[in-house]
Amino acid sequence: MLKMKVQDMTIEYTTTPKEKPDLSTLVFGKTFTDHMFVMDYEEGKGWHDARIVPYGDMTISPAAMVFHYGQTVFEGLKAYKNEAGEITLFRPDENMKRLNASNDRLCMPHVDGEFVIDAMKKLIAIEKDWVPAKAGMALYVRPVMFATEAYLGVAPSKKYRFLILLSPVGAYYKEGINPVKIAVEGEYVRAVKGGTGAAKTAGNYASSLKAQEVAEANGYSQVLWLDGREHKYIEEVGAMNVFFKINGEIVTPALNGSILPGITRKSVVQLLTHWGENVVERQLSIDELIEAANNGQLEEAFGTGTAAVISPIGELFYNGQKIVVNEGEIGTLAQKVYDTITGIQFGTVEDPFDWRV
Ligand code: PMP
Repeated sequence: MLKMKVQDMTIEYTTTPKEKPDLSTLVFGKTFTDHMFVMDYEEGKGWHDARIVPYGDMTISPAAMVFHYGQTVFEGLKAYKNEAGEITLFRPDENMKRLNASNDRLCMPHVDGEFVIDAMKKLIAIEKDWVPAKAGMALYVRPVMFATEAYLGVAPSKKYRFLILLSPVGAYYKEGINPVKIAVEGEYVRAVKGGTGAAKTAGNYASSLKAQEVAEANGYSQVLWLDGREHKYIEEVGAMNVFFKINGEIVTPALNGSILPGITRKSVVQLLTHWGENVVERQLSIDELIEAANNGQLEEAFGTGTAAVISPIGELFYNGQKIVVNEGEIGTLAQKVYDTITGIQFGTVEDPFDWRV
């Protein structure tokens, strides 16, 4: 199969550029830039027709396999503009690795990560005026790939489309970092070992909606997911990975096949290790956590993900018991991690790991 190059990509510019949105009132994921990247795959032919075209609706067969059997994967990362006007990405190679790992799980073909990053850079360069230049704001990058073969047989599709969409996002924390209330989910599960939890695929999100709806109706912002077999071990929080500081030890659930390997999670572990903190990836049961909290040893709890970077947990609700973490305030460790990672992303803090691209 021929290696694709960005120089060979066709570019069709829009003749009707949109007005840039008001960043102060921007809602996540509702505004898209003027252009998008598209390429197609066919078995035997490989990826072809890489192109940048005006953002807009597409024609897809109603029999496209993605609509029926859900073969689709996606990624999420952000482009940041620093004070000098330079635009950077945060560890895009990690997103490409995870994308291809998701592709493996869903029997979908790999993409050439290097080419996709080059195409992404080209698309962002075209849309450079859409990248907010303010700290806390960014251009969200959404690669997505789905089965397009028109066929109702249950089998891997022989055709796929890959897109990159860009969407400007405002500050996640408009009024400072607010710790959130979390309900421990005792009924529904997000994923099971042997399932697709470690892949970034649509079905995981569709199946998470019910628990989220119930939690919200009860006044909680997210759920803490427990494992699918025993409902005993902590997995993730909402669509984020989760960290706890218990008696000086920082614990995050070990990747076990049903947890999404977050890039923020990986970065936080690397950063804490670099700082000489006692960070461990291990199994952590809800019982151990509750006991630690009751003994006054639960010092901090926070979620990690691309959207918020750090989302402190101020309260946990489990089996009728309310547990307030760190008096409902953000902990010093969470704050330090947040300041460092966002600082690296915006180019105001030194980047000893070469995470910025
Ligand atoms: N878990 C789930 C289920 C997610 O959707 C995300 C967001 N991609 C994460 C964890 C965090 O991953 P990352 O740090 O790569 O954004």
